[in-house]
Order: sequence, then structure tokens, then C-alpha cells
Amino acid sequence: MIRLALRVRREDAEIALAELTELAPSGVEERDLGDVVEYAVYGADGELPALPDLRAAVGDALVEVVTEEVADDWADRWRAFHKPVLVAGRLHVRPPWSPPHGGDGVAELIVDPGQAFGTGGHATTRLCLELLVELADGPVPDGGRGPVLDLGSGSGVLAVAAAQLGWSPVHGVDHEEASVAATLENAAVNGVTVTADRFDLLRDGASGLGALDDGRPPLVLANLLRPLLLRVAADGFVGTPPHALIASGLLVHEADGVAAAFARQGLVEAERRTEGDWAALLLRRG
Ligand code: SAM
Repeated sequence: MIRLALRVRREDAEIALAELTELAPSGVEERDLGDVVEYAVYGADGELPALPDLRAAVGDALVEVVTEEVADDWADRWRAFHKPVLVAGRLHVRPPWSPPHGGDGVAELIVDPGQAFGTGGHATTRLCLELLVELADGPVPDGGRGPVLDLGSGSGVLAVAAAQLGWSPVHGVDHEEASVAATLENAAVNGVTVTADRFDLLRDGASGLGALDDGRPPLVLANLLRPLLLRVAADGFVGTPPHALIASGLLVHEADGVAAAFARQGLVEAERRTEGDWAALLLRRG
């Protein structure tokens, strides 16, 4: 097993991480080394992202690359950096090997990191979950909370959380087959109903609930990087248009541009959250 670490300048670290998560969607190990931040991936030779791609992803932020053979402890290290997260005191997102939270009124969401992005450990996932939990605190309309469409569902963490919090039907799309499988598997593990299929937001045009569209406007979850969010805003939606959209995966300085793009679809900024350099937006139909 190989541990491949990229050390990047602190001031460029968040941007480098955004690029790296595209290449290593199931997560990177982060170590703070002072002026430098180290991001590491583990894998067998031939399974790791190619070094030239990694170098290109972090660009000028790169300080050095450190490669080492890791022996027996790699599995433990992998587990050690997938830690449980408590969202808004209500939702405990944890890998299968961590114990339940056990607190009163705390729901458990088990996510196996596998090959797909979305353990709850990334700030953008956490920000989306916080906004979702808050929406769930609102009054439940007659006929239930209604449908959810999760764009770029990854591990399915947001879709599964939405189903646990009472939205139905919940549908996830992702261009990666592994993400579709992970979404369905994580839904089954958590005992909720979520459907998912493959859909490429760059190639397949406007997204929608398809056969699940029952005329009720959906809540759309979109934890995607800026270029994809802009594409979604430009393409719009097929079927019943959403009443609200949670967008994340964007850096703080990108938030105004993304909000403006969705405003042209009639989805207006209602709330903005930030954590470090990351931002999330709650947009509502104006
Ligand atoms: N929803 C999960 C979460 O919040 O943790 C995962 C979000 S992850 C930042 C973005 C997801 O978008 C990845 O699962 C990736 O495979 C997916 N994705 C990237 N490009 C896509 C595209 N062109 N079409 C559909 N999904 C895409």
C-alpha cells in the first residue's frame, strides 16, 4: 500500500483541496504542518490517481510530493481520518465502525466512505446537512415535505439524510456508477427509500425527478463545484420547478456569482453559511 502526500502552501490549501477531492472523491487525509498543509491518499500501486493529474490539480500551490510505502497500519489510518460528525446537535453521521452517539433525539446516519465522496467530514457536506436539518425544523405541509432531488449524490449522504428527515420521494443522480451504487447501498443500510441513477450534469441537459415527479415542487440539493452549479443554473430543470435549492461546493468568493446565476431561474438567496473558505447557499423561489 502506498501513501502519496502532496504538501501545499497554506494560503492555497482550500483551493487545492477542492481540486483534489475531484480526483480522490472518497477523501484525503489532512495534516497541518505549519506553513504547509499535507493532503494524502492511500492505495495500491495502479489504484492511486496519477501523479501528473494530482500535480496539475494543485498547480502552483504545490511545495513537494512525498511517497511512502505503508505496511499493516494503512487500514487503521484510513479509518482514523473518517471520523463521526454531529450536525446541528441532531444528526450523527458516522462510518459503520464508529459507535452511535446515543444522545436523546440524535438520528444516526451511517455512511460507508467506500469509493464515493461524502462522509460528512467535508465542510461542504456539513454545511448542506446543517441547512437541511434546519429546513426540517420548519412546519410540515399537508401531504408531507415533498420530493428531493440530490444532484451529485456521491455516497448518498444528503439524500439519505433527507429521507431520514421525512422528505419523500428522494432521488439522487451522479455521473459515477460507484456513486449511484453507494447511494443505494447507504440508503438500504439506513433503512430508507432512495432511488438513484446515472446522470451527467454536463452532458445530459436539464435534470428533474422524471417518473417521480408528482407535481409537487422538489427541494434540490446540489453540493457541486462552481462550474457544475453554473451549468445547473443555466440548464434549469425539467418537470415541476424546485421551491428551494441548497448549493454548496463553492468557495466564499464564488458565492455571489452562483447566487446571481440561480436568481435568473427565480431562486433567490435566503441564507448563506460559511466554514473556512467554503460556502453554502439556501435559495428559495422568490
Ligand atoms: N452529495 C455528496 C455530499 O454532499 O457529500 C457528494 C458531493 S461531491 C462534492 C460532488 C459529486 O458530484 C460527486 O459524487 C461527483 O461524482 C458528482 N459529479 C461530478 N461531476 C458530475 C457530473 N458531470 N454529473 C453528475 N454528477 C457529477
